[in-house]
This record gives sequence, structure tokens and C-alpha cells, in this order.
Amino acid sequence: MLNRTEGIVLKNTIFGEADLIVTYLTRDFGLLNVFAKSPRKIKSRFGSSLEPLTYSMLSFIGKEDANLPRLTQSDIIRPFHALREDFRCLVSTSEMLELNLHFLPEREDNEEIFELLLNILLKLESDRSGKLLYLYYKMKFLEITGYLPRLDMCGRCGRKPVSNGSNNFYISHGSIICNACIGSNSDAIKLSQSAVKFYKSILQWRFTALERIRAPENLLTEIACVMDSHIRYMLAKPLKSSGFSKT
Ligand SMILES: [Zn+2]
Repeated sequence: MLNRTEGIVLKNTIFGEADLIVTYLTRDFGLLNVFAKSPRKIKSRFGSSLEPLTYSMLSFIGKEDANLPRLTQSDIIRPFHALREDFRCLVSTSEMLELNLHFLPEREDNEEIFELLLNILLKLESDRSGKLLYLYYKMKFLEITGYLPRLDMCGRCGRKPVSNGSNNFYISHGSIICNACIGSNSDAIKLSQSAVKFYKSILQWRFTALERIRAPENLLTEIACVMDSHIRYMLAKPLKSSGFSKT
């Protein structure tokens, strides 16, 4: 059966002598692994369309339950060259792709997640320094997939964050915990009340509103620190298994 869908290349893995396994985030099939025959040979018909970040229209053949369908065509819609050529941007976008690879189950369509990645990449083409864009992406991704840290209440007793002083975020709990619930706060990340409020408002913004927002640098840094620690902690834990076998 021949399928067609839009996809963004998340990674490619060498398979055998000249073949590749390409992992896409697709609009209609979610995370999808396909087998690409001989793309590493010169004059491959796939050209540069299998580079990570490339947004293309792809066709693949394979039964509904085939572990590894075969890629038959991929036509570039947007190459996102500029994002790959800017080193800092490449590092940040690679982190975004990594979230998809780690947290998403295979073959479960999630158009919201696809649209989020596509829209951010389109936006980054014109504003590659956008710290807020990267943060927004991570927060929205974790919100949609259910892995967002809780900053609106104590993860144990449900008490609201303090209005003066700082709150303590615990990576291993994925939430803030109040002083009454935890004895020692030595390994906590401090979060000001303004950062907690700002975090809440970021989640309420629509994507289209982002360019009108002037985000205070210190709050961005505070929240980015919590998000990055949370993500590093989650990435270190195995969430799902994946294995390739050619069918
Ligand atoms: Zn508590």
C-alpha cells in the first residue's frame, strides 16, 4: 500500500552498506521510521532531502503493520538550510528533535505536535536567536505529551507557590515542593514568584502572539534552567524501546 504524507526528518541512521533508516515526524502517522534504499550512493534520487530538519512530502510503501516501510519518494517542501548552517541554532534545534525522538511513540498521529515543530522551524528561519521560541517549543511539547513540570502548586500537598521569597523546584519530582512537605532543600532549583507567573502566562500564549511579547531576560533564564534540568533528567530515563528490523 502506498502512503503519502508531509514529514520533517528527525534523524537518519546508516543501515548496511549504502542504505539508511530515516526517522520522520509526519503529519498523518506521527513518528515514522522508513527504509531508504541506497541514498548514500552518488546521484541518489533522494538528493539532500533526507538531511535532518528537511520538510518534505514523502511516499512510502508498506503494510499497515510493517515495521519498516520503504521510502519511495521525498520531495522537499522546505530545506531549512539556514537552520543547519548556524551552529548555535543547530544545537538548539537538535534538542527539539531529540524531544520528539525520545517522548513520542511510533505511529501515533499527533497533528498538534507536528504543527508545533513546523511553525517553530518556519519562525526560526527569520529569527534564529529567539530564546523565547526555543523555550516556548519545549514547554508546549511537554504540555501536549503530558511531561510538563508542575509549577502552579506543591507536587505533594497542592499548596500554592509562595508570593514572596523563592519556590523550590525538585527535578526528581518534576514539580515545586513546599517547605512543609520537604525537609532539606539542598538539591532544589530556586524559582522566583515572577518566574512562576511568567511560566504560567507562556503556556497561555498562542503561537501567533509570540513576536509581540517582550520577555524579561532574567525570567527567561530562570525558566530555561528549570526546563533544561527537567528535560535532561527525563532524557536520562528510558521511556520507550525502539529497534529496527527490515521487513
Ligand atoms: Zn506541600
